[in-house]
Amino acid sequence: MPDVRRVIVLGSTGSIGTQTLEVIAHLNALHERGRWSTRYDVVGLAAGSNTDLLAAQAARFGVQRTCHVQRQPSDSPARGGTLTVTPVGCEAEELVRSTECDIVVAAISGMAGLAATLAAVELGRTVALANKETLVAAGALVTGAARRCGARLLPVDSEHSGLWQCLGIAAPPPLSIGPEVAHVTLTASGGPFRTWPASKMATATVADALKHPTWSMGRKVTIDSATLMNKALEVIEAHWLFGLGADRIRVLIHPQSIVHASVHFADGSSVSQMGAPDMRTPIQLALTWPRRAAGCAAVLNPSTTLEFEEPDTERFPALGLAYRALADGGAAGATLNAANEVAVDAFLSGRVPFTRIAELVRFAMDNTAPRPADSLSEILAADHAARRLVREKL
Ligand code: MG
Repeated sequence: MPDVRRVIVLGSTGSIGTQTLEVIAHLNALHERGRWSTRYDVVGLAAGSNTDLLAAQAARFGVQRTCHVQRQPSDSPARGGTLTVTPVGCEAEELVRSTECDIVVAAISGMAGLAATLAAVELGRTVALANKETLVAAGALVTGAARRCGARLLPVDSEHSGLWQCLGIAAPPPLSIGPEVAHVTLTASGGPFRTWPASKMATATVADALKHPTWSMGRKVTIDSATLMNKALEVIEAHWLFGLGADRIRVLIHPQSIVHASVHFADGSSVSQMGAPDMRTPIQLALTWPRRAAGCAAVLNPSTTLEFEEPDTERFPALGLAYRALADGGAAGATLNAANEVAVDAFLSGRVPFTRIAELVRFAMDNTAPRPADSLSEILAADHAARRLVREKL
């Protein structure tokens, strides 16, 4: 019986998607040479605007089922987008529901990935989760469905992969970590503005914000890294993946991006996970779990000096908003996420200065009454309301 894992990659033309296909090609090359027992068959691809690359990927990996997700205008609720048929077309959600597979790599960025990710979870698939917005907006719904349907949520985000590795990867998330863990630390590079004074940050250009010092990533996550909103989203993501209260999740600035996360146990011992800042490492672990194969990513340079500092929550107010969203509960995460998506869009298109991004998110949270987040429709309603609020303000 050949050991084959069938994989769907949602968001295949983005940064995580292209690196996922690179890792799959690498693992299949190991398999060909008898050095890895599993072969990976790509059985579905979904992507947005880059249809040429999508077609090239489908041809290279022999994929029969692809779908082209049209992004909706960002002030309307995103539910996978409308459909363009190429060549067996369907929405990303429909692709997931209609294609037998073992692993779904959820790498569509933003709320547009929620419906398809939730579908994979409801089908009990193993989900390699790169879309943090899914958990930020719909953490209770997605982790509840994962527990009910027996789906595994294997973190692809480097910090959460790091936490998982510190805890021991035998059990897959979602987990409920007990009192043996005092708290955990997620590291943040600090982004390109780590040492900029507040006055200079107000004049930062899009090009400045896209110059990330250590990681090479998509535009949305790179801007989120510059505001530290990325770390804010990751605090909420850690809450849902590992069942940790906000008081047990801390953030440290670590400019070298070598230590990705630490677990501090109740007895005083701490375990940290290290690796070169290369997303192919956490992507590969999600694909090979529970085993490990020879990697294709950059190798850690052990002579690097490691620095750590407390985050400046005055210059980077986004971080505080994550803790507030966790305290508020309900749909506060959906509100935060949607407001941020619109605000980042506005910054990227030159409509607002950099420091306005976090202000707009705070404005949306200040002006939204508590809302429930028990169903997809409630979450999409909260998402829609926050987008409209920020658009009106712009
Ligand atoms: Mg991360």
